[in-house]
Amino acid sequence: MGGKGWFLLKLLMFQGLFTSRLQDPGFDFFYFVLQWPGAYCDTKRACCYPTTGKPAADFGIHGLWPNYNDGSYPSNCDPDSEFDPAEISDLVSTMQTKWPTLSCPSNNGSKFWEHEWEKHGTCSESVMDQHKYFENTLALRDRVNLLQILQDAGINPDDEFYDLQDIKNAIKDGTGFTPVIHCNKDPEKNSQLHEIFFCVDTSGTEFIECPIIPRDRCPSKLQFAMF
Ligand code: AMP
Repeated sequence: MGGKGWFLLKLLMFQGLFTSRLQDPGFDFFYFVLQWPGAYCDTKRACCYPTTGKPAADFGIHGLWPNYNDGSYPSNCDPDSEFDPAEISDLVSTMQTKWPTLSCPSNNGSKFWEHEWEKHGTCSESVMDQHKYFENTLALRDRVNLLQILQDAGINPDDEFYDLQDIKNAIKDGTGFTPVIHCNKDPEKNSQLHEIFFCVDTSGTEFIECPIIPRDRCPSKLQFAMF
């Protein structure tokens, strides 16, 4: 190959390297995690309502978490990228209703969102900046009306016990996607519906079937706590 040929080949190889770097987000998919406030609060540790008042009796957002296909996940990827409330000032009132903090002492939510951004959001900065990260997560929440889906299937937050399989089937039928369910325990040691995991593609906008199916962390019968 002549000098010109080599040059072109090297240019193409360099370009290929560059584009594959650009296309590789550095993780394989997101978990989008919703939380039932009744279960977060009904534990020995209890909870504190945000300074803005008791959240609605509805599923809230826990987070949008980059993950790898082997089950591990990156965290705290960029200590220089601090949470900046000013960047999301237009989203804050929606976040207060859809992404409510429940930790004590009572606070306005910034601490929870800061934790989620710094631990998880900074690991998907190749795809979304801070504003887009919160905006996309809120948009995902709007696309699954989980409480309605469960209630339509006769599954209500009434302290009754329900079959895990019935809950999963209702969510699969209502959303098209199989969820992963996590439980926690109330002070009497009853397992209760706590968090629902969905998988989302690396753009942070489209639900997908989970590339890996972790086991549900719940017994076959679980309580759906009142809130
Ligand atoms: P993560 O580190 O993203 O896996 O989330 C776990 C942390 O988030 C724990 O410290 C939890 O106590 C906290 N957490 C979970 N849900 C909430 C909530 N609704 N409000 C405040 N903190 C929360």
